[in-house]
Amino acid sequence: MIHTGRILKGVGGQYWVQTGDAVGVYKPRGVFRAQDIKPMVGDRVKVDTEKERLEEILPRTNSLVRPPVANLDMLAVVMAVKDPDPDLLMVDKLLLAARMMDIAPMLVLNKCDTAEAKAVSAIEIQYAGSGAPLYPVSARTGAGLSNLIKGMGKGTLALAGQSGVGKSSLVNALAGKALMDIGSLSQKLARGKHTTRHVELIELRADLYLVDTPGFSLIQLDTISAEQVRYFMEEYAPYEGQCRFNGCLHDHEPGCAVKAAIEAGKLNKDRHERYKTILDEIKVREENKWK
Ligand code: GDP
Ligand code: ZN
Repeated sequence: MIHTGRILKGVGGQYWVQTGDAVGVYKPRGVFRAQDIKPMVGDRVKVDTEKERLEEILPRTNSLVRPPVANLDMLAVVMAVKDPDPDLLMVDKLLLAARMMDIAPMLVLNKCDTAEAKAVSAIEIQYAGSGAPLYPVSARTGAGLSNLIKGMGKGTLALAGQSGVGKSSLVNALAGKALMDIGSLSQKLARGKHTTRHVELIELRADLYLVDTPGFSLIQLDTISAEQVRYFMEEYAPYEGQCRFNGCLHDHEPGCAVKAAIEAGKLNKDRHERYKTILDEIKVREENKWK
């Protein structure tokens, strides 16, 4: 029988594929190797359950290198309120990269157990117009995790962010939370610390998968042009077409509607400053390309 399923993990040339409520282990058809086709975690596939064979890989919506995973729908950009202090430029770059790949971003503000409410709102204010919802949480106390899982909706989600913000702690806390709260896990989560790490999809609930290995490379930003960046800033959308110049990058141009909105307090200034930093980095890269 041919079934459609999803690759949850791959070890030693074998793939754990979920079809409905069952998880089976499959080997790819020999022709895959001949054609140099490598199945990825997250791939939607057709399997032959009798022959225990992976027959076909369905087209991918996207694929990442770090972590190696296909068909990602959401990216949770994780930061900590402190320890380490948030690197908001990196956060903004991850948001951009997600938007470029058509992956829905969300912001997770971890270690809220260590901070006062005003430290949280100082960050919330900066992203109010970004289109990415922000979830204050604590992987340590579990505060906010149910809300975060609820906000995830459906699809496959990966975590990204600077080191030390609590990504691994969050993966564990979310997986544990899902076990306790929802309980419909088709996978065994227990896993010895000594085992080699492979990327794996954890089913938090039906139609919601978490990539257990944080990552996400910024490679995508190497392909973005200075003209494109502004379109990935959601807060600028209402001002599109209102600047004096058609190709206004909202930088030094006179008669810029975005700058006017910032001066009027309608858009966040800090976020715009980081946009300009990113824009400058891209311009430098574009100039160096011809040297
Ligand atoms: P990663 O590098 O992003 O994967 O971060 P880790 O999950 O390894 O966490 C880094 C450090 O932060 C560890 O010492 C964690 O115990 C700590 N940590 C993680 N989440 C929280 C939290 O919600 N509150 C506090 N106070 N510490 C946390
Ligand atoms: Zn402008």
